[in-house]
Amino acid sequence: MKDETKLVVAGRDPESNHGIVNPPVYHASTVLHPTLAALDDSRKRREQGERGVFYGRRGTPTTFSLEDMVCAVEGGYRCQVYPSGLAAVAASLLSFLKAGDHVLMSDAVYGPARRFSNGLAARLDIATTFYDPAIGAGIAELVQDNTRIVYVEAPGTATFVMQDIPAIAEAAHAASSGGLVVMMDNTWASPLYCKPFELGVDVSIQAGTKYIVGHSDVMIGTACATEAAWPELEATSSMLGQTAGPDDVYLAQRGMRTLSVRLKQHWENGLAVADWLMGQDMVECVMHPALPGDPGHALWKRDFLGASGLFGITLKPCPRSAIAALVDDLELYGMGASWGGYESLILPTDPNSMRSVTPWPHEGQCMRFHIGLEDPGDLIADLADGFKRLKAAM
Ligand SMILES: *Cc1c(COP(=O)(O)O)cnc(C)c1O
Repeated sequence: MKDETKLVVAGRDPESNHGIVNPPVYHASTVLHPTLAALDDSRKRREQGERGVFYGRRGTPTTFSLEDMVCAVEGGYRCQVYPSGLAAVAASLLSFLKAGDHVLMSDAVYGPARRFSNGLAARLDIATTFYDPAIGAGIAELVQDNTRIVYVEAPGTATFVMQDIPAIAEAAHAASSGGLVVMMDNTWASPLYCKPFELGVDVSIQAGTKYIVGHSDVMIGTACATEAAWPELEATSSMLGQTAGPDDVYLAQRGMRTLSVRLKQHWENGLAVADWLMGQDMVECVMHPALPGDPGHALWKRDFLGASGLFGITLKPCPRSAIAALVDDLELYGMGASWGGYESLILPTDPNSMRSVTPWPHEGQCMRFHIGLEDPGDLIADLADGFKRLKAAM
């Protein structure tokens, strides 16, 4: 079955739900057991790690529906749902770590993941070494006896730098004396356009808030794991007690039904706008791995099945007031955090605040674009007016 079909059929069973197309939304805390034998049986199955309806916090058929959809498309053995993408990142990291352990984390990682490592993880006596995302098989030299996690994200937050994930995963696993887990933040590509488990990854994280939900109205996260990594991920996630509310879980699975058509359009529109930006004299560079001239293009082509609508640019150095003239009066681009909804966004970013291994070589302002489902001609016309304002303000 192709992914487009899986997105439609996975996690859905109308026959057992009065013929109703979509799965019901279960609101649950208490789950009743009719007899002592049923209670004993339920407890036994729960202790054996079985997925089932035991207690609201442990999931309901609503949660299982989303888990099954994500797993069916992204891969892995089982999937765990969290109340946000960052909750998925934090729980996934904690699942494999104890005091004295060591983590290798890409220097182009999502800012709050870096803060988690430098903050809570450091406080728990877990050391993190940030590595140049271009390291490839060279990761082996950084693997120590106590290295438990190699964390990758491609393309990286803010700079959209690609990573050679198969080379990193293979070299890291080979250099480890055992028990090393390769973890990937796969949010940019969504479960559809990158298959981390085929690249050697053991745990794949999604900020479902972005493309899975797709409508800028829900916070949610997921982590899928291989069969070997699943028990630790499940055990710690369960101890952390995080659950996502049933209505949010429902909206996530509903959003995901249309992921294939939405993402195709984000990809096409994003490339159209990125292409146009390349021709602007005030733009120093466009960072988008699906552009043929991008340094990460070959890796993207080899390992990814498509591109999302998220990319970056750097402007030539210009005063803050000129940047304000560009962004303040845009009609179609909102300015704010997050992305992955149907609407376009623009956001000034600062790669220097999010890296420690290699200095950022550009002086001009970095901007992140999320290109939505609007007509690309309208989006370009709006930006063209913005760049006229920027130049007039120089
Ligand atoms: C947004 C984002 C997250 C965190 O997701 P939230 O749902 O906002 O907590 C993690 N990783 C990446 C790459 C993101 O863009």
